[in-house]
Amino acid sequence: MAKKQYAVIGMGRFGSSVASALTNLGFEVLAIDSNEQKIQEVVGLVTHAVSADTTDEEALRAIGIRNFDVVVVAIGADIQASILTTLILKDLGVPKLIVKAQNELHGKVLQKIGADKVIYPERDMGLRVAHHLISPNILDY
Ligand code: ATP
Repeated sequence: MAKKQYAVIGMGRFGSSVASALTNLGFEVLAIDSNEQKIQEVVGLVTHAVSADTTDEEALRAIGIRNFDVVVVAIGADIQASILTTLILKDLGVPKLIVKAQNELHGKVLQKIGADKVIYPERDMGLRVAHHLISPNILDY
């Protein structure tokens, strides 16, 4: 069976971490960011890296985004860009769409427009750290 192909949009701390981790695990990963400098920073860490504004449907078509099995949208502060990107990806028929949300309201919108999974990295990591801290099996954290 062919290995899954991933695209990660937004090379902030979260997106670049997801993209390089997937690459290290042996998967094909395309990193996308509208900021050319961010792309230069990840060139050696991922399989392919391209600069594109993902609120531009034509740019996403040209990349062939619908051929990827999973697309992770890791655009943070620009909620409008995150929502538009998600909507376009859904319309283009991306099979699995995972989107990072900035807050609960953003997450609700993402769910309504068809994100398959909405993630809240800061909130979830906070929960994990708290659980680790109270776990009797952990002597030191
Ligand atoms: P983190 O906390 O993971 O560092 P963040 O939540 O602060 O990230 P941003 O830095 O706002 O998120 O966005 C992540 C990346 O998304 C940035 O590198 C930014 O250039 C990119 N980005 C923003 N808008 C677009 C867009 N329309 N198309 C492609 N990339 C975009």
